[in-house]
Formats: sequence, structure tokens, C-alpha cells
Amino acid sequence: MSDLLTGHVERGTLFVVAAPSGAGKSSLVNAVLAQEPDISLSISFTSRAPRPTERHAQHYHFVSQDEFRAMIAADDFFEHALVHGDYKGTARQSVEPFLAAGRDVLLEIDWQGARQVRHKVPDCVTIFILPPSREELERRLRGRALDSEDTILRRLADSREEIAHAPEFDFLVINDSFDRALRDLCAIVRAQRLRRQVQVTRHAGLLEALLA
Ligand code: GDP
Ligand code: ADP
Ligand code: 5GP
Repeated sequence: MSDLLTGHVERGTLFVVAAPSGAGKSSLVNAVLAQEPDISLSISFTSRAPRPTERHAQHYHFVSQDEFRAMIAADDFFEHALVHGDYKGTARQSVEPFLAAGRDVLLEIDWQGARQVRHKVPDCVTIFILPPSREELERRLRGRALDSEDTILRRLADSREEIAHAPEFDFLVINDSFDRALRDLCAIVRAQRLRRQVQVTRHAGLLEALLA
């Protein structure tokens, strides 16, 4: 957003969403973006093979391990990590130009990536999504029917470590009722946008007129 008087552009807000696999992160994020189109979703790079339902450049940029390593060497990543045995990473190009132009950006990443992002952008807003129970997490992973049994077991085993990092996040959202969790996420986005630092820039003209 831009202050017409000074030409100053306030940086956008960086939202980081993490969750154990199957908690409903992607479903919730897609629903938030449908209601808040002014947020740019970063499409990650990964060395994981695409699932049958996934499209290149829509769900991920699917690359080989060698291509991923070349991007690491070229310092192309804003953050990257090895997650469930696959490389996952956010390109600088998916984040930095958008924030600089005043756009809000949302990252769907794991706890290791969130830790890197917190160091780089201390005022980022981090959100962790929890399933209502272990049984329901397993039901959702199996119900999605997109992963092999081995993959599901690995993700269930990894979920304990992911969840152990939940206390590092600013907000915890329980995805029991989907609609309730969606409202909670939208409330976090709206509250962030009402913060003083953001509002004084967005409404500089109003403040000036009211003080005249
Ligand atoms: P899902 O969690 O079941 O949707 O499966 P995915 O294979 O899509 O993601 C597995 C994990 O990788 C999740 O914890 C994601 O948050 C994480 N992940 C996805 N993209 C990135 C990324 O760009 N960086 C990092 N650090 N983690 C990512
Ligand atoms: P993640 O991105 O965290 O791995 P998904 O968004 O793929 O999770 O959701 C996993 C599965 O759980 C999907 O089949 C999704 O439709 C389902 N799901 C998501 N939220 C809920 C909810 N609140 N209640 C029941 N099922 C849900
Ligand atoms: P969408 O964002 O397309 O509405 O939902 C994505 C997936 O999340 C759907 O396939 C559905 O299984 C799940 N989902 C969405 N809303 C609800 C809900 O209110 N309750 C349940 N149980 N699942 C939901």
C-alpha cells in the first residue's frame, strides 16, 4: 500500500502457516485466499514426485534433486528444508518482490522453514494448525487417499516432531469444525491488517484531514 503524500510503500505482511501433514492446512489456506484475494500464495519448489491430482506451478514447482541443489548453491531460496525425506523450499522471487511492493504473502511451510523465516523477517505472523486428535489426523490422511501406506505412516510418525514445535508460533488454530477454523484464520489476517503501523500508512490522508 502506498502513501500518496510521501510515495512511501509499507512492506506487506508475511504470513507463515504450518501444520502436521493431513491437519487441513492446504484446504484452509485455499479457503482463506478465496475470501482474501489480496494475499499472494507462494508456490514452493520440491523434489517430491507429484501426486496424481497435483499440477506443476499450481501446487508446486516440481524439480529434480539436482535442480534443487543447484538452486541452493545459487542462493535462490528464501528458506528451504528437508521434509519427510524430500526437499521443500520457497524461492526468494516468490516473496521479496511482493513484500517490497506492499503485497501480503502467505507461505505454507514446515517448522524448520518457519524458524528460518522468523530470523529473516522478525515481524512475520506465524500460525500453526492443529488437528482435533491423533485419530482424526490419521483419518484425514487416509481419507485424502493420495499417499501410499508407507508415506502415510512416515507422515504420522513425523507429525509428533512437527506438533512439538507448535509453541514457537504466534497463533494456534484447531481445525475441528472447518468453518470455525476458517473464521479464526480470517480473523488473524484482518487483525494484522488493522495494526497501527499498517493503518497509519493506508489512511495517512484521513489522519491528516482529521488533524487539520
Ligand atoms: P501435505 O503437508 O500433506 O500437504 O504434503 P506436502 O508434501 O505438500 O508437504 C509436506 C510438508 O512440507 C508440509 O509440512 C509442508 O508445510 C512442507 N512444505 C511445503 N512447502 C514447503 C517449503 O517451501 N518450505 C518448507 N520448509 N516446507 C515446505
Ligand atoms: P494438509 O495440507 O495439512 O496436508 P489437507 O488440506 O490436504 O491437509 O487436508 C487433509 C484432508 O482432511 C483432506 O481430505 C481434507 O478435505 C480434510 N479436511 C480438512 N479439514 C477438515 C475438517 N475440518 N474436517 C474434516 N476433514 C477435513
Ligand atoms: P474446499 O476448500 O474445497 O471447500 O474443501 C476442501 C476439502 O476440505 C473438501 O474436500 C472437504 O473434504 C474438506 N472440508 C471442507 N469443509 C469441510 C467441513 O466443513 N467439514 C468437513 N468435515 N470437511 C470439510
